[in-house]
Amino acid sequence: MVHEQGKSVLQKARLSIHRGVADRKVEMTICRHCTNPKCMDNCPTGAMNRNESGTVVIDEDICNGCGNCKLNCPFEAIIYIEDRNKYQKCDFCIDRKAGPACVEVCPVGAIVLKG
Ligand code: SF4
Ligand code: SF4
Repeated sequence: MVHEQGKSVLQKARLSIHRGVADRKVEMTICRHCTNPKCMDNCPTGAMNRNESGTVVIDEDICNGCGNCKLNCPFEAIIYIEDRNKYQKCDFCIDRKAGPACVEVCPVGAIVLKG
């Protein structure tokens, strides 16, 4: 989840946290689930879809690793998973019963889900 000097610590993370070397400023890069998602428009395989909750998701079984979604996302919210040659992004951890992992693990409660 945390990137230090360009290295990803956890490859499964669906968001990126960048810490400035000089000012130590912390910024989070995360999907906005856009109304008109450029990532989805430019996915040639149909792997990107919006589910019934409005969440833009990637179906890894269909994704061919072409990278078009990453190239077209204006928010740099898509992450390449090298060992699987797949791309992923925030999907509110739809595969976790407990909900988004970032909300659970943030020690100061800085991440809040709004309905
Ligand atoms: S990945 Fe980028 S373009 Fe796609 S919905 Fe998220 S923020 Fe929008
Ligand atoms: S990398 Fe996968 S999800 Fe992204 S555009 Fe290509 S097929 Fe679609």
